Amino acid sequence: MSLLVVGTLAYDTVETVFARREDVLGGSATYFAIGASRFAPVSLVGVVGEDFRKGDLELLRGAGVDTRGVEVAQGRTFRWSGRYEGDWNKRVTLETQLNVLATFDPKVPAAQRASRYLFLANASPEVQLKALLQVEAPAFTMMDTMNLWIDHSRDALLAVLRKVDAIVLNDEEARMLTGERNLIRAAGAVLGLGPRYVVLKKGEHGAFVMGGDLHFALPAYPVENVVDPTGAGDSFAGGFMGYLAAQSRHDPAALRKAMLYGTITASFCVQAFGVEALTGLTRPKIDERFDELLQIVTV
Ligand code: AMP
Repeated sequence: MSLLVVGTLAYDTVETVFARREDVLGGSATYFAIGASRFAPVSLVGVVGEDFRKGDLELLRGAGVDTRGVEVAQGRTFRWSGRYEGDWNKRVTLETQLNVLATFDPKVPAAQRASRYLFLANASPEVQLKALLQVEAPAFTMMDTMNLWIDHSRDALLAVLRKVDAIVLNDEEARMLTGERNLIRAAGAVLGLGPRYVVLKKGEHGAFVMGGDLHFALPAYPVENVVDPTGAGDSFAGGFMGYLAAQSRHDPAALRKAMLYGTITASFCVQAFGVEALTGLTRPKIDERFDELLQIVTV
């Protein structure tokens, strides 16, 4: 079933303890779309500047992403730079240049307004809401967010949260949003804000989903050679939503399986800089890790 993502396309500069890469193709929607495209056709709505490399658009198209909703605006592409110190779970943002994102007004192409599965990737809540209102009758909508919006656009974020079916957050964001330290309590408090489900990610310690009668937890797939964790959260969401869209299901049993596919997609993402590991990812490789992860968690 049709899957749409609205979010950022970016050029990221990433520093790890081992290496530094400049102007790597990134962005919340980019990671999501390439991850999801391993499961289902996906359309992307976002904005880039005139400096966006032709090859990067081709890369997205080559991955099976419908880029008709990617607007080319006057100015420079959004840029983000960050550094990971020793612990992969700790990221410091060094710089954010909004550039064309500062005036972004998302326009969902007519052909994509009937999308049934919608992911509002990390972007300002105003952009998320504008996009959400253009999709006519989504069957399942999930949003992401980050500390910046929790701090500075809380009311707008809460308004979007009341309209979506699910939210995906990391541990730090869940604590910031709710003021609860304990993650189970934090997840419960998030559910009190409107969505039916909350997916809470704990970096290399795994993730859980809660909502209604559903409470399901998973460890991360054990990766020995982490190269760059950027995009792990977005590609998790890509695997998760891509699986649901492919199945046209979002019942609790499907959500449990989606947690495995999200976990696995993220595990590939972190094994290379940027989207490199995701573009080379095939369904047999995903399924092989799916079976391995099942082995790890089954008694
Ligand atoms: P993740 O590692 O999954 O949390 O996402 C990393 C991606 O988020 C990077 O590729 C960045 O370009 C993108 N990003 C960073 N800051 C923002 C922001 N303020 N709004 C939207 N996307 C952002």
